[in-house]
Amino acid sequence: MNKNIVVVGGGLPGMITAYLVKKKFCNLKVYLIEKTNHLGGLYSSIDFEQRYTFDIGMHLIYSCKNEHLNNFLKKTLYNKWNIFENVKKDIAGVFFNNNLNQKSPYLDLTNLPSSRLEKYKNKIYSLSKTKIKKLNKYKNLAEYFKSRFGNEIYTEVIGPIILKLWGLKGEMMHPLASKIVLMDRLILYKDSLNLSRILTNNSLRSRIGFPNQFSLPKKYYSNQKFALYPKEFGLKNVINFFGKKLIKLDIKIFKNTDIETAKTSKNTIQTLIVKKENQLFEIKNISKLFWTSPIYSLNNLLDIGFKSKKINTREQVLVYFLLKSKPRMGKLYYFYCFEKGFNTFRVTNYYNYCRNSKLANGFYSICVELHFDNSNLKKDYEKIAISEILKMNIINKASIVSTFLVSKNSFPLLSVNNVNALNKIRRLILKKNIKNFYLCNQAPEKSIFFLHDILDQNFNLISRFKK
Ligand SMILES: Cc1cc2nc3c(=O)[nH]c(=O)nc-3n(C[C@H](O)[C@H](O)[C@H](O)COP(=O)(O)OP(=O)(O)OC[C@H]3O[C@@H](n4cnc5c(N)ncnc54)[C@H](O)[C@@H]3O)c2cc1C
Repeated sequence: MNKNIVVVGGGLPGMITAYLVKKKFCNLKVYLIEKTNHLGGLYSSIDFEQRYTFDIGMHLIYSCKNEHLNNFLKKTLYNKWNIFENVKKDIAGVFFNNNLNQKSPYLDLTNLPSSRLEKYKNKIYSLSKTKIKKLNKYKNLAEYFKSRFGNEIYTEVIGPIILKLWGLKGEMMHPLASKIVLMDRLILYKDSLNLSRILTNNSLRSRIGFPNQFSLPKKYYSNQKFALYPKEFGLKNVINFFGKKLIKLDIKIFKNTDIETAKTSKNTIQTLIVKKENQLFEIKNISKLFWTSPIYSLNNLLDIGFKSKKINTREQVLVYFLLKSKPRMGKLYYFYCFEKGFNTFRVTNYYNYCRNSKLANGFYSICVELHFDNSNLKKDYEKIAISEILKMNIINKASIVSTFLVSKNSFPLLSVNNVNALNKIRRLILKKNIKNFYLCNQAPEKSIFFLHDILDQNFNLISRFKK
């Protein structure tokens, strides 16, 4: 009897998982099930007026720990990359105190009055004997940052920024949120003489930032080897290219499809009933089921009995701009906005990592990601985005050719509450002991969050199967 493998979720992790399992089990039929009408998930592009292309906010593809996967990303996933290495991998800045710092992704406190700056330096020195623990040893984001910088810096500087970014206090956010927006280091010195002496101390080095990302000494480069972006503009190029490869491998791709029922017998999922455009289909003889999409929906599908608490979410709106002249962002690919009172979360300048974005869209294109509390809906989002980037002084009004708005959506926050809920769901699923069901998705509770973390996890899982 022919056996089938099903991969649920057509985001990039799902597509790559489908490819890897098909290569491993070439005699079995592989199905890829995607809820929406397009593949790629967050790693795809949006087209407006069949003319203009934008990515969903800012997404580069960063290298994995596994070398085999890195070769796969560079050669098989797509074949026309811009490859960014070392300092060019990720050029980021911060808007704070009415200033866009283009030299570092870390918060620069050197402009504070000297007595306050001295007080902060002394505090960080006194903490330098305290070892920084692993992320999952901290109860929440506030505790994590207090151990790095002390209570005073947390209350006066870091805490208000966390509240601005996520709409929740640091005590309610999970420490993993520190990996999304970098605030692990503070810039306290501008002169490199003092710095090189300080940076020989590892504990201080993990708390104090180097003031200029472009001249960071080689010995401080991170372990992340490279970042990839297609030479042509739009991650859709990668998705289209790789999607065709999946079809060539005879992987059956079901878009616009939801899973209605999973029929289980002897602790094994035997049959899936899926609904595609109001028609029901059965996928029988299931050998393995890989779940790569969010796990909240498994509560009903697997009947695990999770009593759901309210999930903390944040509203996100993307506003895209076409500009006649280059935005004043220097070499930055993107920057985060830490300024209180602004809804802007991040601004991305596509031209700085893909010159062809100008060729594709005819103008310089940028994306402004706005964040709102749930209560703050029905705003004139384009107006807000325009007013905020004018205040930031990164464009002139006359430079705007058009703006495009993507309808708002909400995403689950990395709050302690949500991560605990995910942990609970995962434990309930594992308790069910379903033999042919594999969770291959984001697992913030295990510090698996970024694309490269998920790919490393899934590659290791698939490698362990015998053919
Ligand atoms: C604010 C923020 C910033 C981030 N920044 C980065 C970053 O800088 N770098 C990085 O590597 N990662 C970043 N991430 C994380 C990154 O987005 C994820 O690692 C990656 O997109 C996860 O891929 P995924 O397949 O789980 O999700 P997606 O890319 O969202 O794909 C999931 C797919 O599954 C589909 N789906 C959902 N439910 C079902 C269902 N029941 N049945 C079938 N299909 C379903 C969806 O439609 C979608 O196509 C960020 C995330 C957030 C929220």
